[in-house]
Amino acid sequence: MLINRKILFNLKRGKMTRLESASSINTFNTCKRKYYYSYKLNLPKRESIATLTGKAVHTTLERFFKIDITNINKSNYELELKHYLLNLFNVTWSESLIELLKLENDKETIRKYYTESLFMLQNFLIDFIQELKSHNMDFSEAFNKLKPKTEVYLSSDKYQVQGYIDCILKMNDQIFIIDYKTSSKDVLSDDYLLQLSIYSLLFNESYGKFPNKVGLHFLRHGTKKFIDVTPDMVANAIKQCELIQINTESDDIKNYEKNPGFYCKWRNGQCSFYDICFGIKKLNDFDNSNDVVDLVQIKKE
Ligand code: SF4
Repeated sequence: MLINRKILFNLKRGKMTRLESASSINTFNTCKRKYYYSYKLNLPKRESIATLTGKAVHTTLERFFKIDITNINKSNYELELKHYLLNLFNVTWSESLIELLKLENDKETIRKYYTESLFMLQNFLIDFIQELKSHNMDFSEAFNKLKPKTEVYLSSDKYQVQGYIDCILKMNDQIFIIDYKTSSKDVLSDDYLLQLSIYSLLFNESYGKFPNKVGLHFLRHGTKKFIDVTPDMVANAIKQCELIQINTESDDIKNYEKNPGFYCKWRNGQCSFYDICFGIKKLNDFDNSNDVVDLVQIKKE
């Protein structure tokens, strides 16, 4: 059996229990067998071109907020920000290219994903420039006001859960938690709602107060959906954190049923474990510790 060396364990209770995440809980709720392969056996996950390009977009945005704005010409900042973002994306894209080419060798398909990613980043920038202008202040002041903390890692020993938050923005004494989405639909699904609820819980555990708003920025659509943090959301997050600990005590595969559905195989890809579930591969075929993936990668699935 594989052991993922990078997995985080909570030793405080005298036993080794895994810190869960919104992603692992949503996986369990969708298909227990997928949870078992992913988080009990730590089998390697199959990357897809969509997940790799999604990561490239996320990394670009993270880097965007770290640029040194003192070099930006204030009278021409819109164009300069555009160039910065494009350059950052091209660097990030070229870093991913070797992995992308392992998954896809059709140049047109790769070009399509590149263009779509640029389109999403362009949508982000249009929105960001509008926000900058709406503040009616000097460019540097407005940029710094709108600059969030990015990729913030939070964890809770009490609820045995962890998460990486794309953006935490503090503005006018209000806290906003924002997660970027590159999904094809701009819908606040139950999975996303649980993710935001868990982030709210984590934020409260770390800072002693809940964020004022939590929301999703759908980059493909250029839309944002924000909601207030309600007691029901928090109660559900706590319940889900408790349930996952109880429901995943067993290491016996018999307690992790398959739940076949549209998420097993779709137009451009398939579940990482499709081949084992449907008899094409045997479990032992995965026994290659070089393939073990980082927990950070799992987060962006
Ligand atoms: S292929 Fe389907 S049934 Fe099998 S683990 Fe994946 S989601 Fe579950």
